[in-house]
Amino acid sequence: MSYVLIPAVPGMLAPDTADAVMVSGLPWLLDCLPPGDDQAYARMMLAVWRQALDVIVVEQDTVPPPGALFGMDRCEAPWCAVPHAVGGAPSLDTLGCTKICAEIMRAHPDLARVALGGFRLGEPLVHWRRVAPRLCTALSTAGYNCHPHRGQTVHLNPLYRKAEV
Ligand SMILES: [Zn+2]
Repeated sequence: MSYVLIPAVPGMLAPDTADAVMVSGLPWLLDCLPPGDDQAYARMMLAVWRQALDVIVVEQDTVPPPGALFGMDRCEAPWCAVPHAVGGAPSLDTLGCTKICAEIMRAHPDLARVALGGFRLGEPLVHWRRVAPRLCTALSTAGYNCHPHRGQTVHLNPLYRKAEV
């Protein structure tokens, strides 16, 4: 069973996002990202990688379509996503609503560190905006294809909503 992992700056978790996760019935983890700490998102993904957990990341302002989390949990593909728009056309190369399985983390234990920083002592971690593209590129390079799930997310972030108009 997958854990839904919600990275959220305290106070920024959208009620519709929380509702969608609760309705899924899946166990969930809320990771509170300190405001202003641009490396916290990378640090979270490195910790997940080290634990080798089956996770479905649902970002704080992202509402998965009904049934999507259930479908992703049941899906056998090790990397899945619901298309998610980040200021452009919906894409799979995001962490808006994305499952990454422990089998990938076990098979490639250094993938996240190489992609996100921290591989060498004292090396800074990447800014939160770069976490998804870096990780998705590394997964592709390692030979994985993201399995697309039906529909697309609702991205509540007003900046992105504006960009979609
Ligand atoms: Zn899938």
